[in-house]
Amino acid sequence: MATYEKLTPPVGGTAIRFESGQPIVPDDPIIPFIRGDGTGVDIWPATQRVLDAAVAKAYGGTRKIVWFKVYAGDEACELYGTYQYLPEDTLTAIRTYGVAIKGPLTTPIGGGIRSLNVALRQIFDLYCCVRPCRYYEGTPSPHKRPQDLDVIVYRENTEDIYMGIEWAAEDPVCVELIHHFNEVVIPANGKLGKRRIPEGSGIGIKPVSKFGSQRHIRKAIQHAMRLEGDKRHVTLVHKGNIMKFTEGAFRDWGYELATSEFRDVCVTERESWILDNLANDPSLSLEGNARLIEPGYDALTPEKQATICNEVKDVLDAIGHSHGEGRWKRMVMVDDRIADSIFQQIQTRPQEYSVLATLNLNGDYVSDAAAAVVGGLGMAPGANIGDTAAIFEATHGTAPKHAGLDRINPGSVILSGVMMLEYMGWGEAAALITAGLSAAIANQEVTYDLARLMEPRVEPVSCSGFAEAVVRHFGG
Ligand code: NAP
Repeated sequence: MATYEKLTPPVGGTAIRFESGQPIVPDDPIIPFIRGDGTGVDIWPATQRVLDAAVAKAYGGTRKIVWFKVYAGDEACELYGTYQYLPEDTLTAIRTYGVAIKGPLTTPIGGGIRSLNVALRQIFDLYCCVRPCRYYEGTPSPHKRPQDLDVIVYRENTEDIYMGIEWAAEDPVCVELIHHFNEVVIPANGKLGKRRIPEGSGIGIKPVSKFGSQRHIRKAIQHAMRLEGDKRHVTLVHKGNIMKFTEGAFRDWGYELATSEFRDVCVTERESWILDNLANDPSLSLEGNARLIEPGYDALTPEKQATICNEVKDVLDAIGHSHGEGRWKRMVMVDDRIADSIFQQIQTRPQEYSVLATLNLNGDYVSDAAAAVVGGLGMAPGANIGDTAAIFEATHGTAPKHAGLDRINPGSVILSGVMMLEYMGWGEAAALITAGLSAAIANQEVTYDLARLMEPRVEPVSCSGFAEAVVRHFGG
């Protein structure tokens, strides 16, 4: 039984449990919420109103969220004392109940915490940052066809250059590291030639592990498996042409996972190409088939020709029977794209993408770029998900100048709530909110940030007014 210094858990309700990384959700889950600082005072009540109304309408009282208020950020310091940005009570509650939702938090100044969001991710090992980006009809967008973009960015949360293992140029440790690399590590490698780290450089380490990559890509594939049709598609986004042993390894480990653990339900882009281009003629030799799938086959070296023949044989032996004759089209397609090309493609051919699995830094950039296409960060929800906990959150900050004025857009936290309901398997309630929010925007009942971008401008509704509009439009 969890004990708390200053909190009293709800009397009713049941905790969500996790089994093999998946939540087991009762009909009366207790969900801790962090109201958030700044505009959290406006956004949270609006969000709770919408979530409760959707659950009530969808399940007619047979399901209900039991909210448990917990504290973080400035509000926590008011209750627990100076620098108590993330009290133990809050961690205990999230550990006990598993799924939580939070508004924006002020980044602490002093007190030893660099970022509350990063601290929560680390404490609960929330290794996937999930950010869906889709268009809601009527949202002002700089793009001509924002409705074509509907992607879910899966950004790895715990590794990569963001781990913050770095040294400033003037740090004596850094100077010594550079010396050691230049004099010992690089010469010993043999393949690095005369490369040298310039004196006076700062150094950052970019660790990418097989374990970290695969557990993250596993969640991305599992998500794609819940989607329909062409959306059953995971793209491994990387810069592996340059950073072979980090970014390139992420891609390779992704393919390895897809073609081993998920063999029955996944096909790679290359495999689908091979299966689709083989002759429908059992008497044709391996070499004859290799010629069909590789234009220019005859001009290749004998070694390359042998490689292609082997590849064809391997694909046929492994999945010819299970995935051939178009059966692969029902499966999850796994392909990969170089990070810079994905930035172009989500703008020029957005309909071709669905789940984008990325490392940390690429995911940071690409999720903001995708959010911009569909109308900006004000409407972009996010979640941080691990094997024993999940926290749903706003992607924007506390916007302090708008705090308490009942004018800010609550869309990001409301949509985070939609993600939470979907994660809990309460899809009917989630669908009501999505329909309500779409209809409210299409009806131009929007907060100031969207109203000012509409042409012609429209009169904005308040934060709470937007929540009411969403509820009113639940029927679409
Ligand atoms: P911010 O709070 O995101 O606000 C910057 C601007 O973005 C606002 O002035 C507003 O623009 C717009 N905006 C933000 N939220 C909006 C919403 N819900 N609806 C409509 N417009 C919205 O960024 P900041 O001022 O740089 O950061 C303030 C604090 O929040 C800092 O302590 C920062 O560290 C923290 N922060 C927290 C998170 C998080 O908790 N996830 C994320 C980012 C920043 P206009 O005034 O032009 O309308």
